[in-house]
Amino acid sequence: MTVAASLQRAHLAALTPYASARRSMSGGAVWLNANEAPATPALATNETQLNRYPSFQSAALNQAYANYAQVNVEQVLSCRGSDEAIDLLIRSFCEPQQDAIMITTPTYGMYAISAQTQGAGVVDVPLTAAADGTLQLDVDEMLRAFNSCQQQIKLVFVCNPSNPLGNNINLAELERLIIGVGEQALVVIDEAYIEFAAQSNVQPLNHITQWLAKYPQLVIMRTLSKAFGLAAIRCGFALANTDIIEVLRKVMAPYPMPQPCLDMAARALSDDGIVAMQQALATTTAQRLAFIQAIAAKPWVKKVWPSCTNFVLLDVDNAEQLVEQCRLGGVLIRNQSSQRRLNNSVRVSIGSEAEMQQLMEVLP
Ligand SMILES: *Cc1c(COP(=O)(O)O)cnc(C)c1O
Repeated sequence: MTVAASLQRAHLAALTPYASARRSMSGGAVWLNANEAPATPALATNETQLNRYPSFQSAALNQAYANYAQVNVEQVLSCRGSDEAIDLLIRSFCEPQQDAIMITTPTYGMYAISAQTQGAGVVDVPLTAAADGTLQLDVDEMLRAFNSCQQQIKLVFVCNPSNPLGNNINLAELERLIIGVGEQALVVIDEAYIEFAAQSNVQPLNHITQWLAKYPQLVIMRTLSKAFGLAAIRCGFALANTDIIEVLRKVMAPYPMPQPCLDMAARALSDDGIVAMQQALATTTAQRLAFIQAIAAKPWVKKVWPSCTNFVLLDVDNAEQLVEQCRLGGVLIRNQSSQRRLNNSVRVSIGSEAEMQQLMEVLP
């Protein structure tokens, strides 16, 4: 039995997904099978055809992403942002009131929120202080909690590089976690910031994607919202072996992504698009280094967390006051003090040179 077959919610085995017009028939020249309009009278535009439902998945986009991530096209599922991938995973694998996910705070908030929405449990094994000043996975404790939990933990979410911390997770420990969990759960690695980590030479872009060949329990999440600068089009990806992708496809809406978004995403993944993205990465990294240098000596900065991303986490003497002072100056930064193990911390995204200049002007 595949990992997905043994871990999916029991009723999904017998569920037949909705057979949409687009999915059940293709070809033909005259399409009268989906109650679409023959044109778009409300918008006199001929730049894109908008009267037809999009495909369930865009073969062109999935192939482009497969090339970019160095995986097979069957291992790719495009979603409405990686937030949808989180939700699909939980809805596909966690039986409400029965199964649970594991998170490692401080971490990205949506894992717990999606789980709570679905009625799944949330088991937290906080990150632990490492010798280099970062917080890292407490793999021994994670495996202990995994094996002793009353609920069955179906999904283990790891954010690498970490949001909100900004550092990368030790890969040897990550691999030890995956091996320790075995086929008892899926290990989901959220690589929303992986391009920045690759640019900073801390982890090659497609190191973890190559692990799909040896770990059937692995799921990787990617997004076009960060390095590619396309948060508005809501495009993310789940990368996993086909048995897992098939379960997610069952649970997903029949027409999940708007056609203009699919087209734009495929353009961003063209050779030219990738080169432009990489140039922007270099600029962001330079801005990040300049920002860290500019604030290092400020008396209110208690700690600058190491970052291989497009944001920097700072421990400060009064986070609330700092966020408010910036806001009054028209610059928004994020208070992260409510996160476990963070007390007076703010997270600053790296913007353009002009935006960082404005930030410097409002900072004390
Ligand atoms: C921004 C972010 C996401 C969400 O990405 P979308 O593709 O825009 O939904 C997921 N995970 C982490 C860690 C993020 O920071």
